[in-house]
Amino acid sequence: MQSATGYSSDFMGLITAKLQGEVQECQEWLSKHPTALSMDKEGCDNFNEACHVRYNRDTMPVRIQDAQEALRRIENGTFGVCIGFNGKGCGKIIPEEKLLACVTAKRCASCQQIHERISGRRYY
Ligand SMILES: [Zn+2]
Repeated sequence: MQSATGYSSDFMGLITAKLQGEVQECQEWLSKHPTALSMDKEGCDNFNEACHVRYNRDTMPVRIQDAQEALRRIENGTFGVCIGFNGKGCGKIIPEEKLLACVTAKRCASCQQIHERISGRRYY
């Protein structure tokens, strides 16, 4: 399958494996921690662990969603194409190095900067 992005099939294989690993890792973790630990419940007197668990329970569903979305973009051939900001795609191809560092990256560097300024959020 040749996509407009020009990534090699080796690269796409690596990215797909990373994304599937991310989904699996998060799902496994969540299934082992079905409920958020409560600070005042017996068995959780460790503040740091409670914070860690709470943090993961908040962020992992987002990570799963992002990874699944990226896998869908691989299927329809739009993975690696910058989605721009405010619904306006810029169409630039995200460099391989950036995707290796962050497999769910959806924006080129300049759009990411603008997006973060507008939304006040990092990465998403
Ligand atoms: Zn862009």
